[in-house]
Amino acid sequence: MPYHRPNGLVRAVRLVLTFTAAAAALAYTPLSDDSLRRIPSGGADFDIDSGALLAPILTPRVPGTAGSRKARQHFVDFFTTQLPGNWTVEWHNSTSTTPATGDALVPFSSLVFRRDPPWAVPGDVGRLTLAAHYDSLYRPEGFVGAVDSAVPCAVLMHVARSVDAALTDKWAAMLAAGAGGDGLDEEKGVQIMLLDGEEAWVSWSDSDSLYGSRALAETWEATRYDVASVFSTPLDAISLFVLLDLLGAPDPHIPSYFANTHWAYQHMAAVEGRLRKLGMLETPLTSQFMEEDWKEAHQFTGGFVLDDHVPFMERGVDILHIIPTPFPVVWHTMDDDGAHLDMPTTRDWARIMAAFVAEWMDLEGFLPALPVGSHEKCDGRGRGEKLEL
Ligand SMILES: [Zn+2]
Repeated sequence: MPYHRPNGLVRAVRLVLTFTAAAAALAYTPLSDDSLRRIPSGGADFDIDSGALLAPILTPRVPGTAGSRKARQHFVDFFTTQLPGNWTVEWHNSTSTTPATGDALVPFSSLVFRRDPPWAVPGDVGRLTLAAHYDSLYRPEGFVGAVDSAVPCAVLMHVARSVDAALTDKWAAMLAAGAGGDGLDEEKGVQIMLLDGEEAWVSWSDSDSLYGSRALAETWEATRYDVASVFSTPLDAISLFVLLDLLGAPDPHIPSYFANTHWAYQHMAAVEGRLRKLGMLETPLTSQFMEEDWKEAHQFTGGFVLDDHVPFMERGVDILHIIPTPFPVVWHTMDDDGAHLDMPTTRDWARIMAAFVAEWMDLEGFLPALPVGSHEKCDGRGRGEKLEL
């Protein structure tokens, strides 16, 4: 339905909500234990041979090849035919030469899948933005890139599936209550970016890396919303850019890289810790992936990992980078394949990310109960077991 919101009020609300980390933290409400218990496991869909989400991505995906096209088709099919919610699909195509391919123009296709509140004007929606790259290294030939970044892509598909129905129900309830588009709250959307061309073809440099994310960030910087909109560009409308990379190897240690998003890191770490205590994760209770919630402002050294967030960060976007330091031992070797994944860790990432997104999107009271018999309970010692409930 068309509507127009009093712009001054919205701008004021937005200033309060997003321009100070303290206020933003206050605006964030943790999910109840009951809601956390409703976050589904990725389960068998993360099986490396037959899993509906992960298995189709465990194949070489060099830009411009059939493997790349197949992976893309897998994503588009999933979001447009498997999810009942109305996910829009945006293609961002670009071409570039690379140092490995001479004068030939290599095509890169990044995808953005998005859900906004159904009543909202696009320029008025602040979007939680979740990103991973789906391309794989050009060399060594046959490189699969399971942690880099097939697993992060599958995790984001699981996230979308896990919040889809609750988003629909929440927005329907808001409309029914007359609260949809009343101008009192910032509109919240979610978008998932599956980026092409992250990898360098010869050796990492400003021009040989991040082909897809550089093109996308440039395009969005130049795309202007209507002047009456809350946000000026799609970049400005990113409330937080969460980048997942190199996930699926055992015992990950995820530092908090950025002081300005440490509050968001703390929320994700808290969700992880609560899921562990509730027995919802398969890795041991003591193996917290995100354990730097204690970090103080003066302890941020400014060090970070070059990755797809850089073109966005350079343009002022707030970044939460979920990438382990040190990197997994299989990084950029032929061993980065399905067989070397740690499946409890992989499935735990799926659940942690889904819970964080459900919390960010305020889905308390709207998450459906897990189907009877599907609830996966864990013993907290690294061995998951299925319980019939
Ligand atoms: Zn890589």
